[in-house]
Amino acid sequence: MPTTMKAIVMRGHGGPEVLREEAFPDPVALPGEALVRVRACALNHLDLWTRKGGAGRSPAFPHILGNDIAGEIAALPAPVDGLSVGQRVMLSPGTSCGRCRMCLSGEDSSCRAYRILGAHVHGGYAGLARCPAANVVPIPDPIAFEEAAAFPLVFLTAWRMLVVRARLALGEDVLVWAAGSGVGMAAIQIAKVIGARVIATAGSEAKLAQARALGADATIDHHQQDVAAEVRRLTGKKGVEVVVEHTGQQTWERSILSLAHRGRLVTCGATTGHDGRTDLRHLFAKQLTVMGSYMGSKADLLDAAALFFAGRLRPVVHEVLPLAEARRAHEIMEASRHFGKIVLKVE
Ligand code: ZN
Repeated sequence: MPTTMKAIVMRGHGGPEVLREEAFPDPVALPGEALVRVRACALNHLDLWTRKGGAGRSPAFPHILGNDIAGEIAALPAPVDGLSVGQRVMLSPGTSCGRCRMCLSGEDSSCRAYRILGAHVHGGYAGLARCPAANVVPIPDPIAFEEAAAFPLVFLTAWRMLVVRARLALGEDVLVWAAGSGVGMAAIQIAKVIGARVIATAGSEAKLAQARALGADATIDHHQQDVAAEVRRLTGKKGVEVVVEHTGQQTWERSILSLAHRGRLVTCGATTGHDGRTDLRHLFAKQLTVMGSYMGSKADLLDAAALFFAGRLRPVVHEVLPLAEARRAHEIMEASRHFGKIVLKVE
């Protein structure tokens, strides 16, 4: 008789109501993989896209969401150097073949076999999860599981955007949209560690205050103020060297207008729509660079994690809910009133 675990299972796309608690067969880890007892799993916007369907590769049903997992190693079918049963860990959310040219050059997220836990394969809305041993990152004891689970996907994404793609430099000005989102919260902190001046936007005074508490040097209410004009004012008409874009259609044009000459726009998402309008005159006359960024490599996560473990980067956890309240967690995220990460706690 196979044993079962508690899991939030999706058997089709739809609203939060498609998330149902079930007894689901335990995953079986293979040699080279780890089986992890999930203690906490953070939500990401990707969970909403995966639940609704229609964005990229659809998972096979039944499906278990959850990209960001922290817990303890429950089993290692074959010994792995440096890992042991009972060890406290967080998981790198992207898996890849590990053998192709992209993987070997540290470009995991361009591997043709790239998969994201919880989006393309089963994730962490469950008692147990399995993943390749290469995805297992041990965490120091003082770091709580809820905090560790809130770290990987958004810090990995923001790290790749700012450090690897845009190469943000000391003393540059950076505009970060939607400070209350996971990527926004992570990008503000990474930009401050680099030594940039951060201008952050948010949609309420409470969120703007939280952005400043995280280190933002200046803030703009993107509902009430003209963001491009405010950026020009704050930078003495220069504009920012880098824009962190992850909202898409509603903000794209203003992002382009906010850039300084030779500025770089880096984007990792389009939560408000895919059709961003670009006036090409700005692109050539100001010699702008527009670049895409997608997730990041396992090495990117390790680089960011070193600063997390040293206390220099810290995920903001908005709320922790029990796994059984996954539906409510999705509703909170969709309402966009949160600042930082929503985390499910797995007993
Ligand atoms: Zn590969």
